[in-house]
Amino acid sequence: MLVVMRVGATRKEITSTVAAIRKMGLTPNVIPGSLRVAIGITGNRGAVPRERLEVLPGVAELVPVTKPYKLVSRETKPEDTIVRVGSVAIGGGAFTVMAGPCAVESRKGALAVARAVRAAGAVIFRGGAFKPRTSPYSFQGLGKKGLDILRAVREETGLYVVTEAVDPPSLELVARAADMIQIGARNMQNYSLLRLAGQSRRPVLLKRGFSATFEEFLMAAEYVLAEGNYQVVLCERGVRTFADYTRSTLDISLVPAARKLSHLPVIADPSHAAGRRDMVPALSRAALAAGAHGLLVEVHADPDRALSDGGQSLTPAAFAELMDSLRRIAGAMGVEQRMKDEG
Ligand code: PEP
Ligand code: MN
Repeated sequence: MLVVMRVGATRKEITSTVAAIRKMGLTPNVIPGSLRVAIGITGNRGAVPRERLEVLPGVAELVPVTKPYKLVSRETKPEDTIVRVGSVAIGGGAFTVMAGPCAVESRKGALAVARAVRAAGAVIFRGGAFKPRTSPYSFQGLGKKGLDILRAVREETGLYVVTEAVDPPSLELVARAADMIQIGARNMQNYSLLRLAGQSRRPVLLKRGFSATFEEFLMAAEYVLAEGNYQVVLCERGVRTFADYTRSTLDISLVPAARKLSHLPVIADPSHAAGRRDMVPALSRAALAAGAHGLLVEVHADPDRALSDGGQSLTPAAFAELMDSLRRIAGAMGVEQRMKDEG
């Protein structure tokens, strides 16, 4: 159930409605809105006592939320959520590109890629310090040292950084070092990690699990929002199908579906979906055309020598070429391409 407050409801009316909900043994979630405040009620097993709520001062109406993902649903919040990473705003009418190597391998290498992707128009640097690898024998990332390199990248290039947390200890470190926390496909249903990401108050980039349904994906985001953190970006990164030419199948249809049913921004990761660099530009353009709010693209200065995911990483030159073509499509679509420092 959603309690919609009147336009101009006073702070006191809002806090006493919140207190009244709590007194009923329910959980109030104050939802920030540009015009008026709404309070989502979660935690109820049976019906919410309507009669006691609709008479409270400042309450305009009570709207039932039919979806299981209450806080993530557009029923609860009709306007788009804008996720702020530093001065970059993700969502709404903008298209935001995050790029970088799969893993941070060295300071020199990370800085070279960061400078190249910034020059091409990326506004957020993505590089893994903690890598969840399928094989325990594969490169697992530089850990804390990788985070120090990411700090240096931010300082020297002015790019904001997003990096993955794989467990509670790394989440704590990532929340301190990075501007945005990535929760990867393999952890999409790690509910305790999602709760911690929700408590961290950092923006969260949540990737879809490769066998997760649309509803399971939105329910994972609900875990983060339920902790009071509304700064979540959904990322479609491909799912497992019987198509075997590519690593995964980019579920383009998730983009318009997410835009319709949720207020959260949704971006696409064509690199992990394709698993091969020759297909990344086409899938990137398809995602933009389908309405994605941005992209996550893997770029490496020397992809054939990369310690992880080299086969799907673009060279800086190929990335710059891709960005040019995206700018032309964005222009034709009337989508604003977010460039550095536009905020
Ligand atoms: C990554 O972003 O490098 C990664 C490991 O992705 P995913 O979690 O989508 O597999
Ligand atoms: Mn990768």
